[in-house]
Amino acid sequence: MADLLIGQVLSFGGNPMTEGLGAAHHRTRGGVLVAGGKIIAVGEAEDLHRAHPRARVTDYGDALISAGFIDAHVHYPQTAMIASWGKRLIDWLQSYTFPEEMKFADPAYAAEIAARYFDLTLSNGTTTVCSYCTIHPESVDAFFGEAQRRGLRAYAGKTCMDRNAPDGLTDTAQTAYDDSKRLLQKWHGVDRLSYVVTPRFSPTSTPEQLAAMGALWAEHPSCLMQTHLSEQTDEVAWVKSLFPSARDYLDTYETHGLLGPGALFGHAIYLEPREIDRLREVDASLIHCPTSNTFIGSGLFDMDGLSASGHRIGLATDTGGGSSFSMLRTMAAAYEVAQLRGRPLHPSELWWLATQGAARSLRADDRIGNIAVGMEADITVIDLASTPAIAQRAARAGDIWEALFPTIMMGDDRAVRAVWVNGRPL
Ligand SMILES: [Zn+2]
Repeated sequence: MADLLIGQVLSFGGNPMTEGLGAAHHRTRGGVLVAGGKIIAVGEAEDLHRAHPRARVTDYGDALISAGFIDAHVHYPQTAMIASWGKRLIDWLQSYTFPEEMKFADPAYAAEIAARYFDLTLSNGTTTVCSYCTIHPESVDAFFGEAQRRGLRAYAGKTCMDRNAPDGLTDTAQTAYDDSKRLLQKWHGVDRLSYVVTPRFSPTSTPEQLAAMGALWAEHPSCLMQTHLSEQTDEVAWVKSLFPSARDYLDTYETHGLLGPGALFGHAIYLEPREIDRLREVDASLIHCPTSNTFIGSGLFDMDGLSASGHRIGLATDTGGGSSFSMLRTMAAAYEVAQLRGRPLHPSELWWLATQGAARSLRADDRIGNIAVGMEADITVIDLASTPAIAQRAARAGDIWEALFPTIMMGDDRAVRAVWVNGRPL
């Protein structure tokens, strides 16, 4: 039986960052017809109701029907240590991250955190994430097992590190290759799951391990590859000292087969001109993690320059370096960071980045991240008056963007009225 969801409907016919506001479509009283896990029609509520009189109707009134949020860079194992005080990147990894990641050798602990993580993200309206796991294969099995049970489209990979990490949290070039390959063969393409080749970043991988990851990716080009790039200045200096013959940070990946379409680079704040050009040339994805960049004191991503030059950009929380599980809070931080660089992002651009833009960064925008015919029915319904503060501001709104912006800036999980995954309400 088909389901007809009624409410305000927001969808995208293009990218508002490059094509302007006309790329966003809003219906005040729209309908979304769902059957077999897919969106099969989008239109005016009344028209769809008349054409499909037997569809089961769920009327969300004035709430906004949107594609589910997509979080393009997270570390689910850092769920329990989110909001840890007072450190910058390298110290933060040593003090908080590595001790916590050590615990994921225990499959029961990994399963507990994976379940908790998806409870939190779904309650925040996020229906797809792309996650780092830990070096332990158990952490990958826990993530994909939980995502599979919930019917989610999900991306993840075993984090690989063979140096500059504590004992108990390192693999080798060979075991990283072997374990990653076994996990890839077990999970990639199963149901809605995709394996991602995942070296953590150049400081924690030897050239041999980076080369092994490059070889694995070359053998499985349908996989994405994710890593970190130029998050903090002392990290960039460290990379230069570890790879003295590299032209720049990106070159440490490029020379080992880890640059190409389908590569996701988290942060990408301190880029040199050659790096900017190469990233554009190969059409790799840059993943902006604004709450993390302010929380760890990293810096201000150049959204204006990089979007204008046509780079592929996704948005992400970077849990738990990021300080929130909410893509609403993440959009607000992206707005604030861009303001500090003189570019006020329009609500349509922020919403696009958190849905279709993030899907595009994962090269999945033909399947998820939009309310359009043929898309998978991962849907988040947003209450635009979820708190007294938001309601009193939204009441004065002259159009949908003015109505949406208070929720972007002040909203949280209370704004998430309903979530549908693969055509079913949670
Ligand atoms: Zn990260």
